[in-house]
Amino acid sequence: MGMFEVIFEHALQSIELDKDITIETMTTLNLLFPQSLKESLQIIESGLVSRISTANGCYYHTVASTANSSHVILPNSCSCRAHAQQVVETKTEFMCKHLLAVEIASRLPGAEQSTVVPTDQWSKGLLALLWPQ
Ligand SMILES: [Zn+2]
Repeated sequence: MGMFEVIFEHALQSIELDKDITIETMTTLNLLFPQSLKESLQIIESGLVSRISTANGCYYHTVASTANSSHVILPNSCSCRAHAQQVVETKTEFMCKHLLAVEIASRLPGAEQSTVVPTDQWSKGLLALLWPQ
């Protein structure tokens, strides 16, 4: 793990521990993500982060982008164009604003809408989001 990842992990642990984003953590995150932090926080504040899970612990996140489309966020990956281009292809970004929003929201009480669904509905929903008809 590089220094960047170590510092990021520490910031995430602080959010989990403090149940809040302190000024110190905010400063650290802003240094790590000068381009995307503000947008990620706006995504959280707008209530756009959802966690869809099953009773046995499978889960994925979505971030609503427009009225009828959502990005799907799985651990370390997002279905958006920025993730494919800047994170995977050119490696100019560590993660997209959606993934950052999910990493923060999942540690912040009340920051994500959580829905538990039956397993078959869960997998159908995920497939429909990843491969829209
Ligand atoms: Zn994304």
